[in-house]
Amino acid sequence: MNTVQQELPRHGSGLAVPGFILGLALLLSGTAAAAPAGEGLRLTAPESVARGDAFVARLTSDAPVEAASFFWRGKRHVVSARELADSGQGRAWQAEILLPAPLEEKAASLGLSACVGKKCPKPETSREVRLFDRKRPVQRLTVDRKYVAPPPEQAARIKRDRQKVAAALAQPLPEQLWELPLDRPVPGSVSSLFGLKRVFNGEPRGMHRGLDLRGAEGSPIRACADGVVALVDNLYFSGNAVYINHGNGVFSSYLHMSKPLVTPGERVQRGQVIGLVGATGRVTGPHLHLGMVVQGESVDPQPLLAPAEHGKRDAAPAGGEKK
Ligand SMILES: [Zn+2]
Repeated sequence: MNTVQQELPRHGSGLAVPGFILGLALLLSGTAAAAPAGEGLRLTAPESVARGDAFVARLTSDAPVEAASFFWRGKRHVVSARELADSGQGRAWQAEILLPAPLEEKAASLGLSACVGKKCPKPETSREVRLFDRKRPVQRLTVDRKYVAPPPEQAARIKRDRQKVAAALAQPLPEQLWELPLDRPVPGSVSSLFGLKRVFNGEPRGMHRGLDLRGAEGSPIRACADGVVALVDNLYFSGNAVYINHGNGVFSSYLHMSKPLVTPGERVQRGQVIGLVGATGRVTGPHLHLGMVVQGESVDPQPLLAPAEHGKRDAAPAGGEKK
């Protein structure tokens, strides 16, 4: 809990929101530090982040704030602020955002900055975030040949699929419906990690951009957080897929379903059954591929998820079913 003390030096441990503390413990790796800033303004973020992970950045103010702008990797991200529960040491307002450290990011460290307001012209506070790599082993899989060398007549469909997903991920929702940690959509353990270099039938095919979770055909898949269904479709590689918009640039995706149980535009609640586990698309067997997209970048869902239930190992032994 000493991260909390560092996080808000003027308010001591004055954080009355349990999810907030849990999110900190999960995401800030005990290295949070506040950047020097203007009077009563603090920007917090982890000192270092693994490429492929998302992290929480927060701007906290002693004065009332309606919104904040965060600047990260050349883009401005605007989010609303809210008043924190009073700790007895004065009032405080806070805006928080989930930001990505993409797998492909080459820089050794990146500047994060922020200012109060939606259109503030320049950052009022900034800090550096160091990036590091996790080991990304190669994983060899064998799938139906049509998923390694798709027949030419499928090229137009595959292109259309990409456009549909891109359009879904571009839908704005300026409201934070996500809350950390995210619920596990199925109780099954991890069968394949995010970021593995994939070789299908002997041919390299990029990285695995999701987390594969074990699940029997037909078992229920639950939304990891509140949100709005952004896409329900049958896609060539992903099979039956559901994408959920959780607001402020955070999306989750659930692939290879046997059956989706929601419709586009539908508001869903954390824990609601949104479909059934299946083996549609490029798979070696039934499982759930869970994806997370944060500000347009695929990130590792695992650090954002609640811990696996007691007795279920959360490792990724060889074998199992993957996409
Ligand atoms: Zn997968």
